[in-house]
Amino acid sequence: MKSFDIIVIGGGIAGASVAAHLAAERRVAILEMEERPGYHSTGRSAASFEPNYGPPAMLAFTRASEHFFRQPPKGFADAALISERDSIFLMPEGQEEAAERLLAKSDKLAEISIRATQEFFPVLRNNYAQRAFLDPNTGDLDVDLIHRGYLRLFKERGGSVLTSHQVKGLLYRSGQWQIATEHGIFTSPIVVNAAGAWGDVVAKLGGVKPVGLQPKRRSIGVIPVEHEEDAMNWPMVTDVGETWYCKPQSGKLMVSSADATPVDPHDAYADDMAIAEGIERLMTATTLEVERLEHSWGGLRSFVPDGNPVVGFAPGQEGFFWLVGQGGYGIQSSPALSETAATLILDKPLPVSVIAHGLELSDIAPRTT
Ligand SMILES: Cc1cc2nc3c(=O)[nH]c(=O)nc-3n(C[C@H](O)[C@H](O)[C@H](O)COP(=O)(O)OP(=O)(O)OC[C@H]3O[C@@H](n4cnc5c(N)ncnc54)[C@H](O)[C@@H]3O)c2cc1C
Repeated sequence: MKSFDIIVIGGGIAGASVAAHLAAERRVAILEMEERPGYHSTGRSAASFEPNYGPPAMLAFTRASEHFFRQPPKGFADAALISERDSIFLMPEGQEEAAERLLAKSDKLAEISIRATQEFFPVLRNNYAQRAFLDPNTGDLDVDLIHRGYLRLFKERGGSVLTSHQVKGLLYRSGQWQIATEHGIFTSPIVVNAAGAWGDVVAKLGGVKPVGLQPKRRSIGVIPVEHEEDAMNWPMVTDVGETWYCKPQSGKLMVSSADATPVDPHDAYADDMAIAEGIERLMTATTLEVERLEHSWGGLRSFVPDGNPVVGFAPGQEGFFWLVGQGGYGIQSSPALSETAATLILDKPLPVSVIAHGLELSDIAPRTT
C-alpha cells in the first residue's frame, strides 16, 4: 500500500493545477489512467481565453485567472501563456435574444459596424450579420505550456504523477480511502475527483452519489486558408447563437458547428456531419470556399445541468472532493479554479480575486442527483 495525504484522480488541467497547489503543503499523488496526462479534453480544446464566455461562476474564475496568464509566476513557463487575439461575435437575423443575453453579462464588449468588422475579418459577407461586437480582451492560450507548467510545479514540490494508473475501485474505511489500481492499492484520507468526463463514473466506484455530469461531444475541423493574406491575424469569429465559430491556428483555420452532443464518456472523435455543418455555416457567413478538410478532432465538454463547475466536498461523504463540470471553459478558468479548490480542500480563506469577481460558493457546491 502506498499512502499519501491527498490523491488526485485525473491528470488533465484540473487535476494537474489543483495538485500543484496542494503539493506545496501536502504529500500528493496524481493517478492518471492514460499513458500521458492531457490525452482527453485538455489536449483537445480550442485554446481560447474569452472572459465573457460561460455561466456566472465561470466568468468569475476566468476573469480572476487573467492575471496569471498574462503574468505567470517566475519560472512557471519559458514562453508566453497567452497571445493576443480579438474575438468578434456576429448577430445574424434571428439571434437577437442571444445577443441580448451576451450583452447582459459582458464586460468591455464594443459594438462595431459591419464595415469595421470586415477590416478585422475581410471575408465576412456584407449581408450575413446585422450587428457585430468586438471583444479586445481575449486571446489564444498555450494549453500544453500551461498544463506542463502545472505538472512541473507539482513535481518540483514533491508530487508524484503516476500514469497508466486507472482507478478501478474506491472504498472508504476508518477515515481513509483505499484506491485500487492494477499496480496496487493506494490510501489517502482525501481524494480529489478530477476525472473529467468520467467524474460520475469515479464517484459511483466509491458509492458516492453522482452530480449528473453529462459529457457533450464537440468536433473541430481544420481547413487550409493559404490564399487568404493575413488570415493568421483574423480574430476568433463566432455567431452569438453559438452555431459555428472559426479561429486561426498554426497557419490554418479551425472551424466548428459548436456541436454539443450528449454522449457517454469515451475517447472522443470528430463527428463528420457536425464538421460539415460548421463548414457550411462558415461558407454562408463568409466568401471562403472550402475545398478540403486537413484534419479534425473531437473532444468532450462535461456539464452539470446548471452549467457551473462542481467544486467542493461531497455532501454526506467524508474526504471525497469534486472538481468536475468545467464544460468548455476548463483551461481559461484553471488558475483561479484550482486555487479555489485547493483553499476549500485545505480549509483556508478563498482567494480574494474570485470573490472580487463575484463568485458565489453556492453556485459551485456539489448537488447530488
Ligand atoms: C473541442 C473542445 C474545445 C474546447 N475549447 C476550450 C477553450 O477554448 N477554452 C477553454 O478554457 N476550454 C475549452 N474546452 C474545455 C476544456 O478542454 C475542458 O474544460 C478541460 O480540458 C477539462 O479538464 P479536465 O482535467 O477536467 O478533463 P480531462 O483533460 O479530460 O482530464 C481528466 C483526466 O481524468 C482521467 N481519468 C478518468 N477516469 C480515470 C480513472 N478512473 N482513473 C484515473 N484517471 C482517470 C482521464 O484519463 C483524463 O486524463 C474545450 C473542450 C473541447 C472538447
